[in-house]
Amino acid sequence: MTPHPAASTDIPRPTGYVYHPLFAWHDTGTSAGLRPADPLAGVQPGKHVEAADAKRRTHELIHACGLLRKLVVIEPREATMTELLRVHTGDHVQHIKEQSERSGGDAGDGFSPVGRGSYDIARLAAGGLVELVTAVVKGELTRGYALTRPPGHHATADTSMGFCLFNSLAVAARHAQAELGLPRIAIVDWDAHHGNGTQSIFYTDPTVLTISLHQALSYPPNSGWIHEHGVRDGTGYALNVPLPAGSGHAAYVKAMRQVVLPALDRFKPDLILLAAGFDANAWDPMSRQVLTADSYRTMTRLLVDAADRLCHGRLVAAHEGGYNPWYVPFCVLAFLEELSGHTTGIPDPYADIAAEYAAEPLLRHQDEVIQEATEFLKLIRPPTTARTSN
Ligand SMILES: [Zn+2]
Repeated sequence: MTPHPAASTDIPRPTGYVYHPLFAWHDTGTSAGLRPADPLAGVQPGKHVEAADAKRRTHELIHACGLLRKLVVIEPREATMTELLRVHTGDHVQHIKEQSERSGGDAGDGFSPVGRGSYDIARLAAGGLVELVTAVVKGELTRGYALTRPPGHHATADTSMGFCLFNSLAVAARHAQAELGLPRIAIVDWDAHHGNGTQSIFYTDPTVLTISLHQALSYPPNSGWIHEHGVRDGTGYALNVPLPAGSGHAAYVKAMRQVVLPALDRFKPDLILLAAGFDANAWDPMSRQVLTADSYRTMTRLLVDAADRLCHGRLVAAHEGGYNPWYVPFCVLAFLEELSGHTTGIPDPYADIAAEYAAEPLLRHQDEVIQEATEFLKLIRPPTTARTSN
């Protein structure tokens, strides 16, 4: 096998990795896509779309190709109640606990299944991310990636949405501020869907910048509009780039270069967190975007450079969506090679097919959205005038 020719991974960086078998045991049950199965109505039960397959296969690829040996494995532990309650209401935490202790149920919106034990597993996911962030901020690691499940970025302070139970990234951000002394956190979200939960939690807060690249008019409905940019003290500290369906490599990379990176440069974070959804890939069942493994490699390189430039390299990612079990693992591998600085010699086996998608030019209606989003950059102020106490 030969190294991926596009890899720019010449400097290995100590990179943490969080995974636990229980993440795959979070039981989402059966469904029929976006609806519960209903045999009486002719709707046959099938595997839930947020099943473990894509993430389990991702972990096994990371293990099988030898990359795991080059990462620093961080053992997750359950998030404490103090950590959860910095973000979520007590009623929300208790609701999930009660559903989990019974035979399962739903965490809030009818789309967020709770299996038996899911409360403990969701706490393990959030706590694993907290441990990872702690190790990075203490300088034991440069970066980190938590391959956690269930996902978190749709969960708001008081309810669950879109398969998400606890907002692990928000919990980690608040932990970094409260316990690790970092005033300013940026959360970049390139999941195919709007990071509405994360945005809502920090919508009035100028100390946490949220930036979401997502498919317009997707999930959640009526969310992630370009004019959503924070309120009160938080005005300017939420950014949204709702890219039209069909956006691919060119649109996403330009959005990174023209919106995300300038926003980070203006904000000057002490830590960059990444909601690393991989469901904007070209063959994902849950979006109509057309990114490839190489797109994720390119976007990761840009974020790594930004973290090096702005915050001592501190970049920590949590896996969010990504539902195609045969392509998500290779998107993550490209991302993780670039994050860690280690090559594996495993090329994207779908690259020849994906090249037709990646070659798509930037279309005018995509570029118009990116240009409009840049109008909000001027609302972001640097630390000298925007920093508040924590
Ligand atoms: Zn998603």
